[in-house]
Amino acid sequence: MSRILEESYRAYEPRPFTADQRKDVTLLFGGVTWRAEKLLEGLFKSAGYNAQRLPDVTVEDLYLGRELADVGQCCPTAFTTGNLSSFLRNEAEAIGADEVAEKYVYVTAGACGACRFGQYHQSYELALKNLGLEAFRMFLVQQHEIDQSKCKDAGLQTDIHLLLSTALGMMAADAIQDLEYQLRPYELEQGATNRAAQKAVSEIYDAMLSRPKQMPKWGSVLWHSTTRRFLKAMRRARDHFEDIQLDRLRVKPMVKITGEFYLATAEGVQNYNMHKWLEGEGAEVQPAPMVVWFDYLMRYGGQKLKLGFGIKDKARQNYALLKLGQRFFRFKYDQMRRMLGGVPRPMPDQDKLRKLAAPFFDNMINGGEGDLLIAKAIWAHTQRKAHMICELSPYGCLPNTMSIGAMAAVQGRYPDMLYAPIEVKGDSDVHALSRCQMVLADAKIRAQEEFESALAAAGLTADEARRRAKEHPKVNTPFWKVPHRGAVGTASNVVLELGNATL
Ligand code: SF4
Repeated sequence: MSRILEESYRAYEPRPFTADQRKDVTLLFGGVTWRAEKLLEGLFKSAGYNAQRLPDVTVEDLYLGRELADVGQCCPTAFTTGNLSSFLRNEAEAIGADEVAEKYVYVTAGACGACRFGQYHQSYELALKNLGLEAFRMFLVQQHEIDQSKCKDAGLQTDIHLLLSTALGMMAADAIQDLEYQLRPYELEQGATNRAAQKAVSEIYDAMLSRPKQMPKWGSVLWHSTTRRFLKAMRRARDHFEDIQLDRLRVKPMVKITGEFYLATAEGVQNYNMHKWLEGEGAEVQPAPMVVWFDYLMRYGGQKLKLGFGIKDKARQNYALLKLGQRFFRFKYDQMRRMLGGVPRPMPDQDKLRKLAAPFFDNMINGGEGDLLIAKAIWAHTQRKAHMICELSPYGCLPNTMSIGAMAAVQGRYPDMLYAPIEVKGDSDVHALSRCQMVLADAKIRAQEEFESALAAAGLTADEARRRAKEHPKVNTPFWKVPHRGAVGTASNVVLELGNATL
């Protein structure tokens, strides 16, 4: 008994990382898309840090994460724990554990709350202990308290200046990603879109590197509100896509990716390379943008503040400020989209999403994606944005298990929704992909039938549509915005545009 009392719970606390150590220490980070990670690297470097993204996640990382930490943890925790551990273990073999503990620190997002996201650092701590790297330092940027710059001597300053640039970087990464996914399935020269995306991200990276290193709080707010540095970089990014030749008359099912944040945004083994696999199977994929998640967090914060109206001091003022910030956030993202010809899709309205999910899920339940997962599925289906929803659910995730339960009721209400919930364990890809393939087969039939209906409505045959597309070459240029003429699929909407018809 006394042993248990002696070893009772204590929150993780890293050894100090001080400002004077900054020049000798490298920040490690990861867990987002390659575009966002590249921009974060530029951002950290511009702020005076040595920064290095962790290597791409592998299946071996998953096994290592399970081995070194809690085996019952959700699979994103296992992947990220294993990824960090694997890197540090290799480094320790090369330069020794003491040197690793001095040379690197790890920075990641965290939160307290309903799910394991609030305990990531405990998993990391356990894994590091098992590796003999207890002295290694990790720092969590808390979702609910983003300005952690109060201690001026701290080595890691997550101040407003860093965080506002992070937000702009994530917007740029999302806008480029969305454009990329709209072009790649239709490119005539394989690889052209990927090459353009690499160059586009490098433009934003350069803009990040050359941003002012430090600024006082309100000066930074003003600078980020008014600077055109990133917009100009987006304009230069656009140039790299200009020459891509397309054939938008390829009939493809539109698949919307939803699910838990880490798995839905990953583009690797974490989700069985689902994005790539779907494209390889002939689909057009709508990736899950990070900005919608940030927009949701602001909406959720507003809901909580509303509960304090008339009870808590300044609840109304804080609510008004948050709403203003949210509006500004959306405005900035729309600016970024406009630099790419308005082709990247706008964010859906959070109030509409909340109302769509309300009959099925309590919007005050947080953890994971809250009601957002359900809302996005209904939105994509009812607004005719996707033929099929592919939901990536982590094994061992409580919030997602709740959402999937509620999705049973959603499917009862919308029986024609093509919905593929994929439980991701990280190591059972054949099972997961074959499950997805079954629903995708139906989505392909639906896309083809829709295309036939579009041809009939436009009074064209497929050959005539192709001839007309040649007469109107703009429909196959990268920055032509495919109009929504009542169809879901790109090819169907192009045909309807060519025939001046609607479905
Ligand atoms: S939402 Fe689920 S998968 Fe993501 S960290 Fe929380 S428990 Fe893990």
